[in-house]
Amino acid sequence: MSYLLEVNNLKVGFTLDNHTTQVVRGVSFEVNKGEIVGIVGESGCGKSVTSLSMMRLLKGTSGKIQEGEIWFNDRNLLHLTEKEMRHIRGNNVSMIFQDPMTSLNPVLKIGKQLTQGIRLHLNYSKSRAKEYAIEMLKSVGIPRSESIMNEYPHQLSGGMCQRVMIAMAMSCKPELLIADEPTTALDVTIQAQILELMKQLRDENDTTILMITHDLGVVSEICDRVIVMYAGTVIEEGKTKEVFNDPKHPYTEGLIQSMPKIGEEQSRLYAIPGQVPDHAHMPKGCKFAPRCPYVMDLCKEKEPSLVTEADSRQHRCWLFQGEGIQDGKGSEKVD
Ligand code: SF4
Ligand code: MG
Repeated sequence: MSYLLEVNNLKVGFTLDNHTTQVVRGVSFEVNKGEIVGIVGESGCGKSVTSLSMMRLLKGTSGKIQEGEIWFNDRNLLHLTEKEMRHIRGNNVSMIFQDPMTSLNPVLKIGKQLTQGIRLHLNYSKSRAKEYAIEMLKSVGIPRSESIMNEYPHQLSGGMCQRVMIAMAMSCKPELLIADEPTTALDVTIQAQILELMKQLRDENDTTILMITHDLGVVSEICDRVIVMYAGTVIEEGKTKEVFNDPKHPYTEGLIQSMPKIGEEQSRLYAIPGQVPDHAHMPKGCKFAPRCPYVMDLCKEKEPSLVTEADSRQHRCWLFQGEGIQDGKGSEKVD
């Protein structure tokens, strides 16, 4: 069976002052058609770079894809010309970024921007496109949608622009929607509304969604499967329910522990101690070792590999493999 999207051993390096550091260190994953998959991790884990690389959008940065394959609909995107890539970005894939201004054209009225895309992709008449655009603006919680059609992006607040961009990305009914922290800047009610809309898009049009986020709440709300990244690699992967109920990797466990719970005071929130390691100064063995409450000697020497269990759960931790099992079993948390 072929996947809609398949990333194989992706490696991305950034060069600064003649020195290259690898920030994506061999990432592989697959996404099936109609699936909603979350890529989660703290900032600096390589999740945004992974998504930008997939769409070949590293230009203008010092980043470069060093190795790997990115298959989309059975074509390796890394072998396409820039023109072919533009076609795919315009027709098959929509992206939602954190910063709406990267997608909105400052000199075109909102209505024009929306209807242009809709007419091009869905072949709607002018009046049908306008109706549909207003409908989409309403569905992302924009009040007075009709008058906003006649305004320019600078006349709207940041949160409003974010919603316009989301409406724009979804209105074209793309095959694949890549959303990088799409709702982070928005208040919870609007956030919930937009996640609901994304689910609807998948259910009605079989849209595949890749959700890049640091927010596990978003993942539990919408994702079928979750990929957890740390220090430029995948450290855990599985069905969302299974990962939440039984996280294997201590980093995933920490992320889940630090999720706010209803009724809990904000000040009592758990935070994983320490910080994501700097790419230029990676620890030798497991990259999570300096922060891990279960760390063993072996962890500081050798980086574990990503192992796949029978039910296709994946994890990268010595506690569950090889030499580590013996030492790790019954080991006390050392915090
Ligand atoms: Fe912790 Fe060791 Fe597992 Fe790394 S390999 S997460 S240090 S137990
Ligand atoms: Mg990011």
